[in-house]
Amino acid sequence: MTGGNVKDYSIATIGSHTALQILHGAKQEGFRTIAVCEKGKEVPYVSYRVADEILTVDSFADFFDVEDELIKKNAIVIPHGSFISYLDLKRFKKLRAMHYGNKNVLDWESDKGKQREWLKNAGLLLPKIFKDPETIDRPVIIKFDGAAGGHGYFLVQTPEDFWKRLKETGNENRKYIIQEYIIGVPLYIHYFYSVLTEELEIMGFDKRYESNVDSIGRIAAKDQMNLKIETSYDIIGNIPLVIRESLLPKAFELGQRVVDYSKEVTPPGLYGPFCLETIVTPEGEFFVFEISARIVAGTNVHISGSPYAKFRYREPMSTGRRIARELKNAIESGRIKEVLG
Ligand code: AMP
Repeated sequence: MTGGNVKDYSIATIGSHTALQILHGAKQEGFRTIAVCEKGKEVPYVSYRVADEILTVDSFADFFDVEDELIKKNAIVIPHGSFISYLDLKRFKKLRAMHYGNKNVLDWESDKGKQREWLKNAGLLLPKIFKDPETIDRPVIIKFDGAAGGHGYFLVQTPEDFWKRLKETGNENRKYIIQEYIIGVPLYIHYFYSVLTEELEIMGFDKRYESNVDSIGRIAAKDQMNLKIETSYDIIGNIPLVIRESLLPKAFELGQRVVDYSKEVTPPGLYGPFCLETIVTPEGEFFVFEISARIVAGTNVHISGSPYAKFRYREPMSTGRRIARELKNAIESGRIKEVLG
């Protein structure tokens, strides 16, 4: 097949989450760029000069109003976390505009049960779930459905403690899960899988900076008790990380297992950027508690490329730019259909 030219395409995304990175990366690779912004929230995309064009909607839920415009401009839509949060997923799956990535994996991401099954079947280590509170025999975290930022989550290690705390917090009627609490450090692994080269790359790592959990250690235990502090996990920012080099093979292995399994269940599988959200124990075991089947906000710490991206590319390579590079390679080699889903 004959190759095309990036100049004939635009790259579009909605203005939030990782849009600056995606659009900046697209420009670095020579694409025209479009930001779909909510009215009144255009400033960053204008100020940072990442968008050649801004399309405005009243709210992200109205994204489909500009779809015809995107089609006319030969735009390829790049999904990110805000698509999952603000758009009707069923409708998004029927998007007529070009879309980078396999839309079927978005279902897995939005359903915690499916997600768990996927990770388990891929052979990853997951925190144990306790269906019956009476069987709690180790530290567990109680997570409530729809608790954004983890508000109301609490930790216990016996059935007695569990019932007592549930009553105290007045949450008896809410849906919850009881999950083994892994004592270790959080580590977010940013992957990129190319369908063109069939190769898995690690673009970088980050850890999250969550309020208030990340500052509780600054308060003496006795003061924590006095103040009756409730832990919350509201994401405020991200911090770049490098990992102990001897842990890298394991990090590659986990990502490869996920890709291989996804190919079996929803061909052509998971491709493009994705992230495994892990807790690593002192023994070097990686417990995976979540997967994001698209670009994660933690990649924003590596706009000029992480140390790992530097080894491979020897030029600034963010995940946003890596997506655009993949699309450019696909366009120029006449393989664009293979990366659209
Ligand atoms: P979640 O609402 O599941 O994203 O959890 C909120 C935060 O709690 C995460 O960012 C982790 O730092 C932490 N966390 C969640 N699950 C576990 C677990 N099983 N063990 C240890 N920490 C966890």
